[in-house]
Parts: sequence; C-alpha cells; structure tokens
Amino acid sequence: MSSQPITFQAPAAPVAPIVPTKWPVEDVLALFNLPFNDLLYRAQLVHRENFDANEVELATLLSIKTGGCPEDCGYCPQAARYDTGVTAQKILPLDEVLAAAREAKSHGATRFCMGAAWREPKDRDLEKVEEMVREVKALGLETCATLGMLGEGQAEKLKDAGLDYYNHNLDTAPEFYSNIISTRDYQNRLDTLERVRGVGIKVCCGGIVGMGESRLQRAGLMAQLCNMDPYPESVPVNNLVQVEGTPLHGTEPIDPLEFVRTVAVARITMPKARVRLSAGRREMGEAIQALCFLAGANSIFYGDKLLTTGNPEADADQVLLKKLGMHSRNNAIDARCEVTSS
Ligand code: SF4
Repeated sequence: MSSQPITFQAPAAPVAPIVPTKWPVEDVLALFNLPFNDLLYRAQLVHRENFDANEVELATLLSIKTGGCPEDCGYCPQAARYDTGVTAQKILPLDEVLAAAREAKSHGATRFCMGAAWREPKDRDLEKVEEMVREVKALGLETCATLGMLGEGQAEKLKDAGLDYYNHNLDTAPEFYSNIISTRDYQNRLDTLERVRGVGIKVCCGGIVGMGESRLQRAGLMAQLCNMDPYPESVPVNNLVQVEGTPLHGTEPIDPLEFVRTVAVARITMPKARVRLSAGRREMGEAIQALCFLAGANSIFYGDKLLTTGNPEADADQVLLKKLGMHSRNNAIDARCEVTSS
C-alpha cells in the first residue's frame, strides 16, 4: 500500500438520522484529498475485491412522462418554470414503453429505467406505471423507476408490481441543497428512500456534481450516501449537463479529474454498490471515461438519450468498451463488437 489507511472514528452516540456514522465527512474528505494515483489504487483494490473489474452493467433510461414538472431543481430542463425548449408530454402508452424496452434488451441492456417528471405520482398514474413494470419485467429485464416522491402506500404498490429498483437521488450535500432546489427539502428525499427500503425495493440513489459545490460538499454528499444503512445498491454519479434556460447554466464546470475522484470515493465508501456513470458522459470523452472505470465505475446508461439530454451513441460505447477489453454483464457488448468491428 502506498498510502496510510484512513483512521476510522467511533461513532458518537446517540446518532442523529442523517449524521454519518461509519464515514465521518472528514474521512471522506481525506479520501478526496489523497494523491490521485493513491486514490485510484485504493479504489481499484476495493473494486477488484467486489467485482469483475472488466465488467460493466448496461442500463437504459426512458422518459415515460416528459416535462411540465412543478419542481424547481436548478439543473433540470423538465421544470415547467424554465424556458428550455422541452415540451410537456403526457405519460407514454404501454406499447411504446414495451417497444423501447425490447429495443434496449436487444442492444444488451439488463436494466430498464422509467423516469417521469412528477413531484409525486398521482394514484391513477401510478397504476399505469405498475402495468409497465409488470410487462417490462416479463421481458426478462430488471426494472427501475424514478417518479418523484412516493406517498403512503405507493412504494408497496410498486413492489407488488415487481419493481426491482427505485431511483431517488439526494443530488448534493444537505448544506448545499437549498442552493439547488427550494420546492422540497432533504428530509422529503430521505422519507421516500425510507419508504422504498421499507418495502424491500432496492435503492438507486446518487447525486450530481459540478453544480458549484465545494469539495467538502461533494464529500458531504458521499457521506450521506455511504452512511445509509444499508447504502444504495446503485449509485449514479452525474456530471451536470448544463442546459440553457436552467439556473445552473453557466456554472463553472467541475475539473474532469475531480469527477474521477468522486467516482473513486464512491467506490471506496460503497464497495458493493454499482457505481453508475450517468449524465455528462458524452462530454467526458474516452480518456476520462476510462479513468472512471479504473476508479470503480461499473454501470453506464446506454442508449441515445438520458431523459432529455444526449447520451453517447450505443455504438460508441461498444467501441470504447472493446478498446478497454471490457464486457457487459451478459456479454452482449462482446457479441455485438465481434459483429460490428472492422
Ligand atoms: S429533476 Fe425531477 S423533480 Fe426536479 S424538476 Fe426535474 S423532473 Fe422535476
């Protein structure tokens, strides 16, 4: 080992619900502050202890209800109050969702995520989503949904429909949250996550970096995530995609190597989680994506679009993974690359 191990502090008792217990923020920050090579080395060690280091999970995301959202998330083009050119649409019919799911499966996706721009789903909308979950699952795909906050009894209905994962991001550190969103608070997010956990649905929960937060606040986000008991099974790490018309457009972008550090910290603090490279991958280029895989990312969104912002074309992903000698969870990438490579 080329660096000293982080010293763990015994948690103070009694422990408040959102105060880190296993990873004090200062210890997470100490990881961020390591020399880059030491950080990546540690992340690789953890990654290899827990996963096939050359395997990546492919997930596909479909927006089943786009735009017109009443919330004011400062990064989001789907908020009705921002003029971003996104047109509000009604919930997609079941047959369109199933056609997209079949297409995703044929391109190697193992998980199909359905996203809706709601503050929270109305019961009549939830019924439609339940049907989508049942039918997508019947195609042999894992299912994930991101529908906003869940009220009493709604997580149970999704569980009964067979939902595998629920995505609900914490977005950023608690102390930075009000800079980004004012229409809900951190505790609202934690409440929904608790409901999801409570019924036995797996949790997909991460955040966005590059929103003007400090390194300490990035460490604060990671501490929130890794101190959940248990921590999320999936951790999407998004790099802000700046969309004209949103309040965060024009924010100083994060240094790409700081993004890689964030991925490495996620891997070290949540050893068994799928760490997912999510929004912002297109802007990273191959070299930074390769560093992210080295840092322990092992899941990507795959396909042409991430809700309303672009995603690298599926073929470009195949080329990159082949260059890196990586394979997908069900080896679909290898098979397709053999067919498509010249
Ligand atoms: S991130 Fe979700 S909740 Fe926030 S404005 Fe966009 S669609 Fe609405």
